[in-house]
Formats: sequence, structure tokens, C-alpha cells
Amino acid sequence: MIDPRAVSGCVRCGTCRSVCPVFQETGWESSGARGKMLVLKSMTEGANLDSWCRDSLGTCTTCALCTQICPAAVRPTGLIEEGRRDLVLANVTRQEHRRLNRNLLRYGNTFGDGRDRLGWLGEEKEMLPKSADFVYFAGCVNSYRYPETAKKTFQILSRFSVTAMPQEMCCGSPLLRTGFDAGFLREANLEQMEAMGARAIITGCAGCYTALKGYGGLEVYSVPEFLNQRLEELDIQPLDLTVCYHDPCHLGRHQGVYDPPRRILEAICSLVEMKASREKARCCGGGGGVRAAYPELSQKIARRRLLDVPAEADAIVTACPLCVRNLRDAGGNAIDLIDLVSRALPPSL
Ligand code: SF4
Ligand code: SF4
Repeated sequence: MIDPRAVSGCVRCGTCRSVCPVFQETGWESSGARGKMLVLKSMTEGANLDSWCRDSLGTCTTCALCTQICPAAVRPTGLIEEGRRDLVLANVTRQEHRRLNRNLLRYGNTFGDGRDRLGWLGEEKEMLPKSADFVYFAGCVNSYRYPETAKKTFQILSRFSVTAMPQEMCCGSPLLRTGFDAGFLREANLEQMEAMGARAIITGCAGCYTALKGYGGLEVYSVPEFLNQRLEELDIQPLDLTVCYHDPCHLGRHQGVYDPPRRILEAICSLVEMKASREKARCCGGGGGVRAAYPELSQKIARRRLLDVPAEADAIVTACPLCVRNLRDAGGNAIDLIDLVSRALPPSL
């Protein structure tokens, strides 16, 4: 349920509108952060829950730029997610999001893919340690779209007593962000963590990172945090490259992880900053269910983000497969941090 008191904290100053990537593309008040706050207010006052509310709230990437900048300390991002939950309860949803929900209920992954989720492990799957201190959580996008990245990540992490879940399920992020219930996924993953006696989980996806942190009672690391703590042990061989780093919203603004990926990149090559970076980084446009349900908008946001790439950068490195995917689809030379780390390690690894 939307908290009416939290919504009424908005003084309609419009500061959030100046940073909202959706408003920048559409120019419509109803799709900008302030407009969404007005829609939320009307919902708390009993407005009809219709497709107009759905598309206003649905077009939010959950980038949190508005939440960060709001001078009245209103948290539009979280309130929008609350509003989406009310819309789901009223069955006012996009069919693309309903499909996501069905895929997850049936297959445990966003793509509705019936193949083995751990297919990227190949024959190594049979030799997975049954217990370990750390568990690698690959996530849906790396498991099914970038299996090579999942494999490279696991190979590198395997140096540090890491295993993987035999029956990993989606972290639940796509459902949580679009207003659906994700409790069944949380339970399935937590049960396995307990059975393996693991003390922490490591993920290379920003969306998974926020979702897993939300499970509670779990020690969670992003791949950049975990590797940055072990940089000395990695035997990095520098590369003659200049790259920039794109901060994924759910790793940066949502969780405050800015320095670890940069420290790793500085150990490997030259790092230049994007025009907007760290707390001010623009969104790639892929999150919050926007890529699934509003693909044109999602790509427009990605294309604008690519304008922030400095001319001297050979590649955009990021630490989230959804950012990689959305920026690549928009024409950017985006690569996962782990792909670069893997290139900088001695061939024996
Ligand atoms: S959410 Fe915050 S920044 Fe946006 S209009 Fe309301 S008070 Fe202003
Ligand atoms: S979270 Fe991002 S996309 Fe959503 S309303 Fe706020 S600024 Fe706009």
C-alpha cells in the first residue's frame, strides 16, 4: 500500500524532473518523477487504477536519481514501487510484466528458458563443491545470455573457496521492481544457501545485488567488491587500454559501491570518467521493467547515456549484465568488468 504521508511530503518543486531520464526522453509531466508523485497522490485519494496510472508508474527505471536529489527527502523510487504493487493487486499490469511473472513461476528465470541454468558450467557442474564459504550467484542474464561471462567469473572466483547453487533461481529483482511477489524465489535460494553452509553470496549483477541484500540475514558481495579485496592475489598483468566505467544504478546509487570497480580497473588499464559518473551517473535505461515493456524508451535512454562516453575510451566497462545488454543494443562497446579482468590474468588461470 502506498503511504499517503510519504507521498504528501512532495512539495512539487520539480527538482527531480531535471534529472529523471524518462522525462528527458518523453517531455511528459506524467512520466517524469514529479508527475509520478502526482499520480501516486491521486491513487491514495481513490483515483481509478487504469492504464494511465500503469504507464506513468511503469515507465520508471528505478534509477534513484530523483530519490538522491529530492530536497524534501521524499523517496519517489520506493513509492513508485509501492504504487506498482497496488496496480498488480488491482490487475492493472502490462502483459510483458505478466509474462515475466509467468516465466519465473514456471521456469525460475525471466526468459522462460527451459534449459539447465548451470549449462555454462558444462562438465564442471558434476564437480561442484557441495559446501563452501562463498556461493557465486550468476543471475538470469549471465546464465542465459552471457554464459561465457558467468563461466569466467566462476573460474576466477573458484580460487577463493567458492561454489554455485545446484538449483539457482532468479533473485526476484524483476518481480520486486515491477510490483509482483518474489517470496517464493527468495525462499528457494535461501534454502540452498543454508544447505551448503555458505556464509556469503557473490553476484556479478547489480539488480541481483540489491535483491539479495533485501533477503536479509545474508552477507552479500558484488564481484567488484569481492575481487577488489583480493586484488593482490590476482597477479594482474596490465593492458594497454583506456576505458570508462558506467555505474549501474543498483550498484552505485542504491548501494554506494563506487570505488571497488574503479580500483580494479586502475590496476588493469587507464580509467577515464564518463561525463556523468558515480552519484550522478545516468541510467542505462534497462531497469525497472522498462526494457521489457517500453523497449523504445529504454533504448532512447541508453543512447543518451552513450553520449557521456569520453572520446578517448576504447570501451565502456560496467558491472551489470543488463547494463551491458542495453548499452550494446544502443550501439555502445560495453563489456563486463570480469571480461577485462579475465584478459588481464595470466593464461594459466
Ligand atoms: S519528489 Fe522531491 S524533488 Fe520531486 S517534486 Fe517532489 S519534493 Fe520536488
Ligand atoms: S527513479 Fe529514475 S526513472 Fe524513476 S522517476 Fe526517479 S529519476 Fe525517473
